Amino acid sequence: MVIDQELERILPAVSKPARYTGGEWNSVVKDWDASDVRWVLAFPDVYEIGMSNLGLAILYEILNGADGVLAERVFAPWVDMDEAMRAAGLPLFSLESRRPLAEFDVIGFSLPYEQLHTNLLNMLDLAGLPLLAAERDEGQPLVIAGGGAVFNPEPMADFVDAFVLGEGEEVVLEVTAALRQSKQCAEGRAEQLLRLSSIPGLYIPRFYDVDYHDDGTIAEVRTTVPEAPMPVRKRIVATLPPPITRPVVPYIDTVHNRGAIEIQRGCGRGCRFCHAGMVYRPVRERPAEEVLAAVDALVANTGYEEVALLSLSSSDYRGIEALVGELVARQGDGEGAPGTGHLSISLPSLRIESVSVDLMDKLQATGRRSSFTFAPEAATERLRGVINKPIADEDLLAVVEEVYRRGWKTVKLYFMIGHPTQTLDDVAAIVDLAMEVRAVGRRVLGRKAQVNVSVSTLVPKPHTPFQWVPLADEEEVRAQQDYLKEHLQGPGLKLNWNNYRETLLEAVLSRGDRRLGAVIHRAWQLGARFDGWSDQFRVEAWRQAFRELEVEIGFYARRQRSVDEVLPWDHVDVGVSKRYLVRDYEASLRGETRLDCREQCYACGILSAFREARESVADDAWACP
Ligand code: SF4
Repeated sequence: MVIDQELERILPAVSKPARYTGGEWNSVVKDWDASDVRWVLAFPDVYEIGMSNLGLAILYEILNGADGVLAERVFAPWVDMDEAMRAAGLPLFSLESRRPLAEFDVIGFSLPYEQLHTNLLNMLDLAGLPLLAAERDEGQPLVIAGGGAVFNPEPMADFVDAFVLGEGEEVVLEVTAALRQSKQCAEGRAEQLLRLSSIPGLYIPRFYDVDYHDDGTIAEVRTTVPEAPMPVRKRIVATLPPPITRPVVPYIDTVHNRGAIEIQRGCGRGCRFCHAGMVYRPVRERPAEEVLAAVDALVANTGYEEVALLSLSSSDYRGIEALVGELVARQGDGEGAPGTGHLSISLPSLRIESVSVDLMDKLQATGRRSSFTFAPEAATERLRGVINKPIADEDLLAVVEEVYRRGWKTVKLYFMIGHPTQTLDDVAAIVDLAMEVRAVGRRVLGRKAQVNVSVSTLVPKPHTPFQWVPLADEEEVRAQQDYLKEHLQGPGLKLNWNNYRETLLEAVLSRGDRRLGAVIHRAWQLGARFDGWSDQFRVEAWRQAFRELEVEIGFYARRQRSVDEVLPWDHVDVGVSKRYLVRDYEASLRGETRLDCREQCYACGILSAFREARESVADDAWACP
C-alpha cells in the first residue's frame, strides 16, 4: 500500500513514530468489506493525550463490539509529522487499517476542550476534505463531534455536520443504524441529516438559523425544518453500561499509563464554576461488585499495574472506603484475578471533606505516590461560599496533616483567581493558606514537605451559574499573578499559573456563537493549531483573525451578560434549567451554599430529564421514506 511505503520512509525522521504505527495490544482490526458502517474515531490532539481519553476508549469498544460495524482511531499528527505528511502528499490515515479518512462513513471527533477546534480543522484538511460542512456531500464522510466542549456547539457549527450532545454510548449505535439505512436508501446528505435529526441528542446546525439584534446579541435561534427539535436535549444513559475492560494498551508512555474504571458519573456538589458538575448530572454510581469484577478483567486483559477509579469526585462515591478496602484485601489474600497481586489504586479527584482517614490508610496500602492533590479553588471561606465549595480552613489543614503523616511528601493545591466578588484579600489568602499548609508539612516531615500551588483563571463556562459573568480583566489578573509570584516563594513552595492570553482564547471559544466560525477558520489559515500547547500557541494568528473579521474579543469574553439575554447555547438543553442557574447565581452573590444534591434536591431540572431518558425508547424503525 502506498501509505505503508511512505510511512516507512518518513517515520524514522519524526519524533515518537509509535504515535502513528498502530498495532497495539487489544487494538481491533475488523474486516473492512464485512462492515457496512465504518467509523474512524478522531481525537484532535496527540496520541498520548487521546489514548488517555476514556470516552474514546468506550466508543471504540462499543462500536467494534457491534456486528457489521468497525471503528478505527486517528489522532492529530504532531507538527513534524504534519509537515512530513504534507511534503509526501500523504493523507491522514487511520491507525488500524491505514486507510485515508476520506474512505470512512463517519469521522467521530471528541472535543473535550475548546483549544482543539483548530486541530479539528487541520485534521480535515490533512484528510483532503473540505472544512465547511456545506461543501461536503454524501460521497464524503459525515463529520460528527461530541464531548464536553460541544455543549456550546455554535463556534464549530460551520464545520461539523452533527453534534452529539451528552453521553454517546447509545447514540453511536443509533447513528450507525440510521446511516446503514440511509446507505441502503441511497440518500443524499440532506436526507441523511434529516434522518439523523430524529435521534434524540443530535444537533444538526444547518437546520437552525440565528437572528441578531443590532447590538450583536442574539434575538432568536430558529429551526429551519419542522423535524429539528427545539431545544435539543442532551442524552443521558439511565444505567451506566459495563466498564471498558479491554482497552488498547499503548506502546509508548501516555498521559496516564494505567487502566481506568469509571466508578461514578456526574457530580452532585454543584460547585458554581464547574462545567462538568452541571452538564454531566445526575449522579450515577456503578455497583461495587461490577467495579471489582471489572478491575480483575482489566488487569487480566492489559497487564496494567495501576488502576484509577474514575469519577468527577471519586471520594464522593458512597462506599469508597469499602471498595478500596476490598481491592486491597483481594491483593493480600490472592482473591483477585491473576496479576492483581501488586495492583496500585489511584483516585485522581478527591473532595477534601470526603477524604477520610480510613480512605487515606487504604490508599497508602495500595502503594504510595509522591503527591496528594486537593482543589479548594478559593482561599477564603467567604469566597468558597460564593463558589459553593464550602470547607473550613481548619478542616482542610487537618486533612493535609493526615496526608503528610502518612508519608506523602507533596500536597498539590489548585486555586482559581477571577471568581465573582473576589478581592485582593482573597488573592493574598492563597499565599497565607499555602504557607499554613507548608507549616503543617514541616511540623510532620521537616524540610521534606512540599506544597505545589497551581493558580488558573476562572473561565465562566456555559450552562453554569457563572455563565453570565465576564472573564477577569487582563491587567487585574496579571497584577494578581505578580503578587503571587512575589509572595509565594521559598523552600518547599512551587507556583504554577496560566498564560492569560490562552485563558482569553478559551473564554471566547467556549462562550461564542456561530460568527466565530469564520475567525477559527482564518486563525487556522494563519497557522493556529495545538492551541492548548503553550509552545505552539500563536497569539498573533488569533489577533489577526479577529482583527480582519472585525470580531470583538471583549464582546464574548469580557462582557457581563444580562440574565435575560439569549445566550448562544440556550437551545442546548443539558437538563439543568436556566431558571435554576439564575437562582443559583443570585444565591452565590449572597454567599449562600448548597448541599450535595444527593442530600437535598434543589429542583435543578435534571430529574425530569433523567426520567424521560429512562422512558424513551430509541426508535429503531429506520424505514426508507
Ligand atoms: S466537586 Fe465541584 S468541582 Fe468537583 S466535579 Fe463536583 S461540582 Fe465539579
